Amino acid sequence: MSLIIDAEVIEHEQVGPDFYRLKLLAPEILKNAVPGQFVHVRVSQSLEPLLRRPISIHNVNREKGQLMLLYQVVGRGTAVLTRAKPGQSLNLLGPLGRGFTLPAESQKVVVVAGGIGVAPLIYLLQELALNSISAAVYLGARSKEYLLAVKEISSLGFTPFLATDDGSEGYHGPVTSMLEKDLAKQPVDIVYSCGPFPMLKSLAKILMNYNIPFEVSLEERMGCGVGACLSCACKIKSAGEAGYVYRHVCVDGPVFSGQEVAWDEA
Ligand SMILES: Cc1cc2nc3c(=O)[nH]c(=O)nc-3n(C[C@H](O)[C@H](O)[C@H](O)COP(=O)(O)OP(=O)(O)OC[C@H]3O[C@@H](n4cnc5c(N)ncnc54)[C@H](O)[C@@H]3O)c2cc1C
Repeated sequence: MSLIIDAEVIEHEQVGPDFYRLKLLAPEILKNAVPGQFVHVRVSQSLEPLLRRPISIHNVNREKGQLMLLYQVVGRGTAVLTRAKPGQSLNLLGPLGRGFTLPAESQKVVVVAGGIGVAPLIYLLQELALNSISAAVYLGARSKEYLLAVKEISSLGFTPFLATDDGSEGYHGPVTSMLEKDLAKQPVDIVYSCGPFPMLKSLAKILMNYNIPFEVSLEERMGCGVGACLSCACKIKSAGEAGYVYRHVCVDGPVFSGQEVAWDEA
């Protein structure tokens, strides 16, 4: 069940060039949340901007009823959000959407994050750690300043393999190329990913080649967040036929099976 609540801002800090981490008190939302879901945030107390902005649940502290968001400033809404101060409240609608399907304990799991795409994957890793499921984590970014949540990944007990486009840290090249080299050496049962669409598309090509199941969290510009305005449509393969049908990231996703997404139609 989703709720609309006023969540108190506990902490708000800048953690990178355009990146902010926001800790909120929202026990009611946490009660029903699963990794991959998001909250729809009213970024200002006024009607400007009018529409909420979707941000994934990044991290949770169930005992304290706190959830964390990790966001990148890209435009007007996220710029307004940076002004939220501890003690103030932010109106949240959530948890929304369909999250990741958790793997079985015995499965060999890989998690691939590109840039800010790491945001929902930390909550997934928290849940894996809680269930004693190990995972190989691949983290890519354009340069080392844009590699996010490295410490969080390590503190959860996972060792991230790092890749940067400019070679300033870790493997020099796309995170997907680093993964592809390793896939030839080791079997993998399931891959979870979030990142820019071109990265996901190239990941899909590799994984479908190896016939490895995967789940991706997709991002589309979103209006209402609850399936009414239909603005966040994405293309999903139509069952048993060529072509695609439209599905909505807010209610049918944001997590989709990678095999379902019509990668070549986007
Ligand atoms: C389910 C979901 C979960 C998300 N989780 C996170 C998260 O955890 N952290 C995070 O930083 N961002 C996340 N996003 C993206 C975030 O919602 C957008 O960056 C934000 O809405 C932009 O708002 P704005 O007003 O700052 O920018 P706008 O002024 O609206 O747009 C500025 C630029 O951002 C692009 N943009 C706008 N909305 C989106 C969008 N939904 N997805 C991708 N690009 C967009 C526009 O094309 C434009 O170029 C998520 C999006 C979805 C759909």
